[in-house]
Amino acid sequence: MMGLWLMSTVVVVPSIRGLIEAHRTLSFEFFPPKSQAAASGLRATIDVLEKLEPDFVSITYGAGGTTRETTRDTVIELCSDRRFPAMPHLTCIGHSYAEIYDLVDDYQAEGVGNVLALAGDAPVDGSPDPGDFRYALELIDAVRERTDMCIGVAAFPEVHPRSESRRSDRRHLAEKLSAADFGITQFFFDPDDYFRMVDELAALGCEQPVLPGVIPVLNPVSVKRFADMNGTKTPAALWDAVSGASDPDERLEIAVAAATELIVKLLDGGAPGIHLYSLNQANAVVRICDRIDLQRGI
Ligand code: FAD
Repeated sequence: MMGLWLMSTVVVVPSIRGLIEAHRTLSFEFFPPKSQAAASGLRATIDVLEKLEPDFVSITYGAGGTTRETTRDTVIELCSDRRFPAMPHLTCIGHSYAEIYDLVDDYQAEGVGNVLALAGDAPVDGSPDPGDFRYALELIDAVRERTDMCIGVAAFPEVHPRSESRRSDRRHLAEKLSAADFGITQFFFDPDDYFRMVDELAALGCEQPVLPGVIPVLNPVSVKRFADMNGTKTPAALWDAVSGASDPDERLEIAVAAATELIVKLLDGGAPGIHLYSLNQANAVVRICDRIDLQRGI
């Protein structure tokens, strides 16, 4: 897999789009640490996962900018210390143009070459958000205006919950992907949902690569909460099996086996790579990666 290219003293960060064009990619998602102890834990997790030679990792962003500094600092530390690019997530709802320009100018100056451009969500307490943005497409335009970063976007195989209809979801997604460089999906459990979305995008003339996001169900309660928020179907048999596991090892094995089975189907069907929601833990990711061969499926 490709690392950072050192040309004289200038480190050139590979674009994720370029990596996807070169081969099937493997990537991991982390959330920014909330304490010194959590930061040490994340470093230890990444020390383990680095051996799997990920093509890139991504760091989430708290809606409305709640993790603005920690996301930024984590990404910049990883980009300078590690052999793979780190991509910040960036949400625009609740931000002004000036705030977004400041942050992307900073990323550009620090040599962060990739960004995941997201809308985010309005405040949950129902208070009006004071921001200048409504949709991710506007954030893509703002990033393009200031930088030459490679831009990823979110895709929802089972349709975004705010979409008026499947048709409007796919139309807006095709427009957004065409303005960006690649997509990453919300997690899902039925591979047909992913392939149907890819076919619907192709029918709209959009062939941009979309990496499927896969989550091992280690914590069925919290994964179900996220799934319900996103309109993601959760297979009852998997939830029953994980919830009924007699000890943590059995639970880990069930979660890993289910995620591996899904990944194999996605790779066999032609997915351009796999993005694993790691939840900042190494165990499940290591076991899954031991069982798959990205180029052949398994
Ligand atoms: P958009 O693409 O703007 O779409 C939102 C809705 O608006 C959709 O229903 C779309 O169809 C509709 N729409 C778009 N354009 C128009 C238009 N012109 N007219 C009418 N309707 C339109 N959230 C975080 O807070 N932090 C994170 O780090 C984070 N990371 C994520 C990573 C991934 C891979 C994914 C899949 C999601 C992530 N999210 C994150 C969640 C995301 O911010 C929310 O799901 C948000 O509600 C939608 O973001 P979006 O970028 O898809 O929005």
